[in-house]
Amino acid sequence: ALPLLVHSYLYRARTFATLPTFLLLGPSGAGKTSLLCLFDNGKPSETRISQTPLSATITLPSNATARSSKYRSENDPSMKKNRQFQLVDIPGHGKLRHFTLEHITKLQNLKGIIFLVDTADLSTGSGAQSDNGLLEAAEYLHDVLLVLQKRYTSAKTSKGPKEIPFLIAGNKQDLFTALPTPLVKAALEAEISKVRETKSKGLLDSGIGMGEDAVEEEREWLGDGGEGKFQFKQMEEVNVPIEVICGNVLGDGTNGVEKWWQWIGDQM
Ligand code: GDP
Repeated sequence: ALPLLVHSYLYRARTFATLPTFLLLGPSGAGKTSLLCLFDNGKPSETRISQTPLSATITLPSNATARSSKYRSENDPSMKKNRQFQLVDIPGHGKLRHFTLEHITKLQNLKGIIFLVDTADLSTGSGAQSDNGLLEAAEYLHDVLLVLQKRYTSAKTSKGPKEIPFLIAGNKQDLFTALPTPLVKAALEAEISKVRETKSKGLLDSGIGMGEDAVEEEREWLGDGGEGKFQFKQMEEVNVPIEVICGNVLGDGTNGVEKWWQWIGDQM
């Protein structure tokens, strides 16, 4: 039995190591669990309490073809295998966020990152932190994008690390109060600009290092030297092309999840 066990373990380890992997991030309540369940078994089932990372091996539906197999026949047995990927869900709760950042730099065969936001929860609310969906999403996005930028700027080779495509998936478009795509993009960019400004002030006020050089070293602004308005486009310079695509996991009509499937297929 032992050789069999070892064999099965090795087989699984190899499968996991080689399967294209996508990371699923976003504030809690954005719909990550629902999306994972929908992709995994065709329906957005019961929500579990997000405590630990959860991953699933998912097969792309045949109408969303992986780029690498565009020219293969449907009957080619390697087709199914070519449409398989691993989706790793990471809880968005503030205290658990370190999982996220650790995972980004460690994941093997990472093909892209999907950041899910609730587009019906992008108002500034009463302004209080606890009631500000936009600020919560923007802070989380800012932190993740800064990690990805640092990965590029601290790379030792002149070519830099490989591209990490980044999808901002605006969820819950079925809801009446949801913002449309252009506004989702504009609202997040503007709020990230504010987050960046607040962080830079905090850093200066805390007087880290005091000396000019030390401050220069400590601070790394997100995007293009950190002046003016932050735009997602600036992330292309650090090999992180960002797309904003809206849809909905639940509810009928409207956009559904097809465009997200297609985005995943395009990265494989
Ligand atoms: P998570 O914390 O990111 O894992 O979010 P969940 O998957 O637990 O979803 C949070 C809540 O949003 C649940 O009540 C879901 O039923 C709901 N939800 C998820 N996706 C949608 C959607 O597309 N439309 C609507 N109206 N509700 C959604």
